[in-house]
Amino acid sequence: MSLNLFETSPVFRMACEQLRTVAERINLDKGIVERLMTPKRSLVVSIPVRMDDQSIRVFIGYRVQHSLTSGASKGGLRYAPHVEIGEVAALAMWMSWKCAIMNLPYGGAKGGIACDPALLSIGEKERLTRRFTEEVLSIIGPRTDVMAPDMGTDEQTMAWIYDTYSMKIGHACPEIVTGKPVELGGCVGRREATGRGVVYCIREALAELQISPTQATAVVQGFGNVGTVTCEELHRIGTKVLAVGDRYGAIHNPEGLDVPLMLEYAAVNPKKSMVGFPGSEAITMEELLAMPCTVLVPAAMERVIDKDNAGKLRCRILAEGANGPTTPEADAIIDDTDIFVIPDVLCNAGGVTVSYFEWVQDIQQLMWSDVQVNEKLRELMLGAFHRVRNLAKSENMTMRTAALTLGIKKVALEKQKRGLFP
Ligand code: NAD
Repeated sequence: MSLNLFETSPVFRMACEQLRTVAERINLDKGIVERLMTPKRSLVVSIPVRMDDQSIRVFIGYRVQHSLTSGASKGGLRYAPHVEIGEVAALAMWMSWKCAIMNLPYGGAKGGIACDPALLSIGEKERLTRRFTEEVLSIIGPRTDVMAPDMGTDEQTMAWIYDTYSMKIGHACPEIVTGKPVELGGCVGRREATGRGVVYCIREALAELQISPTQATAVVQGFGNVGTVTCEELHRIGTKVLAVGDRYGAIHNPEGLDVPLMLEYAAVNPKKSMVGFPGSEAITMEELLAMPCTVLVPAAMERVIDKDNAGKLRCRILAEGANGPTTPEADAIIDDTDIFVIPDVLCNAGGVTVSYFEWVQDIQQLMWSDVQVNEKLRELMLGAFHRVRNLAKSENMTMRTAALTLGIKKVALEKQKRGLFP
């Protein structure tokens, strides 16, 4: 069978390679492997938008549902210039494994629109989002496919999707999206959830390595939703953040960056960047990734750690806030070091976990407190961390192979037990 539609993407090939490696190791039935390697449903849409200057531009949007076996599919919507179908399909596949690792009743999905959100006005973004929602209406629904924010999208984007969908069906349907503003039925703590989950995992790894958080140092790539909250949470537990980078550059302070001041500085910068923060010196992205530190957190995008720079990492813990930041070639190099890898499908699962809390509250019209949300998030993250860690130890596997094994096995078992229709 040909998968050419997706296989042109290096990110999709990477996700398939991970799946094949685990499938061979656990001796998975070939038919099931083929089903897991093929996204269930993919839609490509054209999105014509009237721009502020009255011209019309057509954007391309994607929604890929990797699996609907375990429940509604769940996954973010990404606005970025490089988005293409293979990348979206890979991210959807990773979402399936992530939901399975966390025992959430979801399959994986992902969406994206190829655009640069930094170059669009708020009105253009709203028209783009509403028209995209209209175009994918036939395959989304609170029991079918539920979107959430990802790179380049936020609470406001989710509010527009919620409104457009509700107008179409004739009543308010907050459970169509998660990561909405709290005033619209969003969950307290959802915005912070991914970064908080990253730091819960880091704390467990530090404890195992017998390093106190106050003696640890950190370097973070990405200063958006995941990166900023990770910096804040690291600062809260007394870990020095030495360097941070984003798409505009990277900065360093050997004494530790003043995280609260840096967040204030970036908040008023039109690009939301921390570049130029007083008291820091500019460094290159290569220098950032290779900086000696206790914890390196890639929290920007996929494939930033590859065969060329993997050997240069000088961290003790690699905590993958982003999806797919490490290529399989880089993994092979890192496996020969003593770097403690917390793989993406585990490390950044806090986001989808609190999304699940939001969906459950919307359906049942409940309101959880901040304390309830964070305690439950912590409990589920620690449970997943130790399930993965125990499997890695007992089977002498890397943390990535252990995490993927748990996720893939669960989805495969559900497919086997449900059988094949008709
Ligand atoms: P975001 O759009 O809020 O932030 C992205 C950050 O990455 C920005 O600071 C941007 O400047 C930076 N960036 C972009 N291109 C870069 C480049 N080439 N080099 C360095 N930095 C670059 O996105 P986000 O929601 O924080 O997502 C970041 C990553 O985390 C993505 O891989 C996403 O899939 C993953 N993730 C996000 C969530 C979530 O809840 N938002 C959940 C799980 C995983």
